[in-house]
Amino acid sequence: MIKITDIKTYPVRIENGNQLIIKVETNEKSIYGWGASGLSGRELAVVGAIKHYANFLIGKDPRRIGALWQQMYRSQYFEGGRVLTAAISAIDIALYDIKGKLLEVPVYELLGGKQRDFIECFASLKFESKEELITKAQTLKKEGFSAIRLYEASEGAEPYVARESMANLAEWLPELRKEMGNVMTIGLDYHHRLTIPEVVSFVNRLPAGTLDFLEEPIRDENPQAYQELRKMINIPFALGEEFASKWQFWPYLKDNITQYARVDVCNVGGLTEAMKVVAIAEANYIDLMPHNPLGPICTAATIHMLAASPNVAWLEEINTPVEWCGTNSETFYPIQPKIEGARYKISDQPGLGVEFNEDLAVQSTFEFKETPHLFKKDGSFTNW
Ligand SMILES: [Mg+2]
Repeated sequence: MIKITDIKTYPVRIENGNQLIIKVETNEKSIYGWGASGLSGRELAVVGAIKHYANFLIGKDPRRIGALWQQMYRSQYFEGGRVLTAAISAIDIALYDIKGKLLEVPVYELLGGKQRDFIECFASLKFESKEELITKAQTLKKEGFSAIRLYEASEGAEPYVARESMANLAEWLPELRKEMGNVMTIGLDYHHRLTIPEVVSFVNRLPAGTLDFLEEPIRDENPQAYQELRKMINIPFALGEEFASKWQFWPYLKDNITQYARVDVCNVGGLTEAMKVVAIAEANYIDLMPHNPLGPICTAATIHMLAASPNVAWLEEINTPVEWCGTNSETFYPIQPKIEGARYKISDQPGLGVEFNEDLAVQSTFEFKETPHLFKKDGSFTNW
């Protein structure tokens, strides 16, 4: 019988960011699985959780993915939480990679089979001026992207003044819409930085039809706050990238609070949990717009999920002709999904269809990295 023999963790710096990659090994030497965890910025906490899980997973049959998920999620008595589900996600994805390789089928075959021929992406876009915004958006349109998602440009802002950012965007976005035309989907990610009255002021300054979706305008621990915001504005929401279980998604999906589901397979609990979120979203006609900020293992796992799902909008793509983040380094990932224009082909290789350079990872040392810490004028903290 095939058994798990080891789980190796590789928290590594790839270009400017950290990624936590894991390898689940089995007693069949050629059969191993790659997984990735999505809790960016707190990788070593996840490494610790994986060590706890490895303690009872070694010796287990890796094919029993659903059973092992239940055991991981519920076995410490204190169920759930982002650190644990980020660990479970990485292991669960690796188990799917193993099962696909064992059965010699791509992962999408294990999830119900292919429902589409390719995966369409939206492109992320950073900018500091109106000219930069419009030039980059034009490049992406020429490249074939039919959807773009703007980052609110505040990474280096010191102090962070929400009303200044809102004022700039209220002036620039209508011009962007004019340049792009009405076929292009345009979304904006506010990264949980605004308050309800700020969102209302901002949206009221935009002509109708400027934005197609608004991502995370306010924090989302409290679904009721979003229900109140909905009464005051009419732009669809795209929420859920940090949600760490189907239960966290549940209020947002069952009451149609979000109009797009930003599920992240490396945080929500792996493919096992993501497919349940997909089904809950489908029941309310909510399309998936998965979060995909990590690297090729996250991209590949998400592509398999989308291939096997009926309710798909776009996959997030952060490496584009206007933004190259290097998260898909070919030195670290000699085999990985390749984007062509705005589309990914769906890999027919057994498992995920990704190979990670373990020798390079063994030589790499972990470097701490904080996401930017933003402060307001009065010195108080605000979300990055
Ligand atoms: Mg976001």
